[in-house]
Amino acid sequence: MGCRGWRRAVERDAAGEPERPAAHAALEAHLALCARCRAGRLDAVALADAFADLRDRPVPPGLVGRIAFAVRREAARREAARREARRWVAASTAAAVVAWAAVTWTLARGGPAPAGSDIAVGGATPVQELVLAGAELPEDIALRLAFHDR
Ligand SMILES: [Zn+2]
Repeated sequence: MGCRGWRRAVERDAAGEPERPAAHAALEAHLALCARCRAGRLDAVALADAFADLRDRPVPPGLVGRIAFAVRREAARREAARREARRWVAASTAAAVVAWAAVTWTLARGGPAPAGSDIAVGGATPVQELVLAGAELPEDIALRLAFHDR
């Protein structure tokens, strides 16, 4: 029998469940030779002791409710963080659209482009070309275009 086969016997032994003497002797013989199963028995004994401690102690009043409340509060905190991140993405997109519109408008009027702006006029989109040609666009078209791909 391999170590996998001994696992259940190791767990029963750690939990103090009685074993037939021959089976117990066989387990001890394997444990004498196998460091992996000896370590497994130590872990199983520690776990069994921990559970035994839990069984002997009454649960403090309100503990379950406090844990459930803390879990719900953490879930709400994470959801709020996700909403905040989505708001930042929307605000950043709107700011980028406004900056793009300002640069495009400035270029269309022949004025100097703001520092750091480097619009490739040759590769402009059809909407950018309309703006560059001086066409009037509804004020909100940039925002609608920005959210079109979402
Ligand atoms: Zn083993």
